[in-house]
Amino acid sequence: MPGEFELIARYFHRDLSAAPGVLLGPGDDCALLAPSDGMQLAVSVDTSVAGVHFPPDAPASAIGHRALAVNLSDLAAMGATPRWALLALTLPDVDEDWLHGFAAGFHALADRHGIALVGGDVTRGPLSITITVHGELPLVLNAASTIDRVSQPILRRDGASEDDLVVITGQPGLAHAGLKAWQSGQRDVLDPCLAAYLRPEPRIDAGMALRELASAALDVSDGVMGDLSHICRASQLSAAIELNQLPLAPELIAALGEQGAQQAVLNGGDDYELLLTLPEANLDAARAVLRASHLSLTVIGRMHTTQEEVHRVSLLKAGVEQIATGQSWQHFPANTTAEVSS
Ligand code: ADP
Ligand code: MG
Repeated sequence: MPGEFELIARYFHRDLSAAPGVLLGPGDDCALLAPSDGMQLAVSVDTSVAGVHFPPDAPASAIGHRALAVNLSDLAAMGATPRWALLALTLPDVDEDWLHGFAAGFHALADRHGIALVGGDVTRGPLSITITVHGELPLVLNAASTIDRVSQPILRRDGASEDDLVVITGQPGLAHAGLKAWQSGQRDVLDPCLAAYLRPEPRIDAGMALRELASAALDVSDGVMGDLSHICRASQLSAAIELNQLPLAPELIAALGEQGAQQAVLNGGDDYELLLTLPEANLDAARAVLRASHLSLTVIGRMHTTQEEVHRVSLLKAGVEQIATGQSWQHFPANTTAEVSS
């Protein structure tokens, strides 16, 4: 059986001579990286634990893809260009077939987005994957050569303005249906729902293309209602979502029915589509830049101010406020509040 160093070399060391900014790759105590001139670093880390964040019996290549995809998605949500990744892998045992599949899934996605694996760690324990990603974003300096935080073209959560549209990329909800399908024993990995869950596509190109058009953004990991509330809180605004405008994929309706499909978009997780706010005047331009990547952009609501201190996400159906009641929604009764977040 190969030792730890041989395993790392076999599965994780690649030729990085063409990778931008990599002065020294894996093999020493640290990797050495040189950010590009005029850029700032965007850094994020996420851990995926078997049985918590992914089914342990998922295909190894899907586990490798997914673990990196959820991290790349954070870079996408800031509008950053992916550059470098670190991979800390905790393995219960050395299963070379599994490692081979895992590395193939990881590297295929990494190569597509030009992110170089520059280091990591391998330890023994319950299966868990921690990935740190580094991306780059333009650094705008003002006349006095100090950092101008206001005019940075960066997709933060706190940039939404009153009357901005709320928009979402692609076809959210499929991944939630895919997780349910996997849990019920379905194993056809080409099924669109299962594929969306096992191999989510980080919206890197969309994030970069929308950096100067959108006012705020995040990636949807927990459903539109919960994730939009983060933008509301950060931007000190409320939002109204129109149920009839949610983009519901035919495959999603086929899998879960119309109400189930709405529920999956609003409260299901794991999609990693981008949820953004933008001025209405930028909508056509935003749609045009996404056309190159064949990605749809759907208006699902609008940001607004509220009298109260709380900032909340409300749900409308044909303009009438609704309240969630388990699997469905009713007209919003007087004197109750839905999804309050301060
Ligand atoms: P150290 O004892 O200094 O932490 P390690 O034995 O953990 O070193 O790792 C040796 C080298 O291999 C380091 O340069 C490290 O970044 C790299 N490395 C370890 N695990 C991985 C991995 N999963 N992917 C890529 N590089 C790795
Ligand atoms: Mg180490």
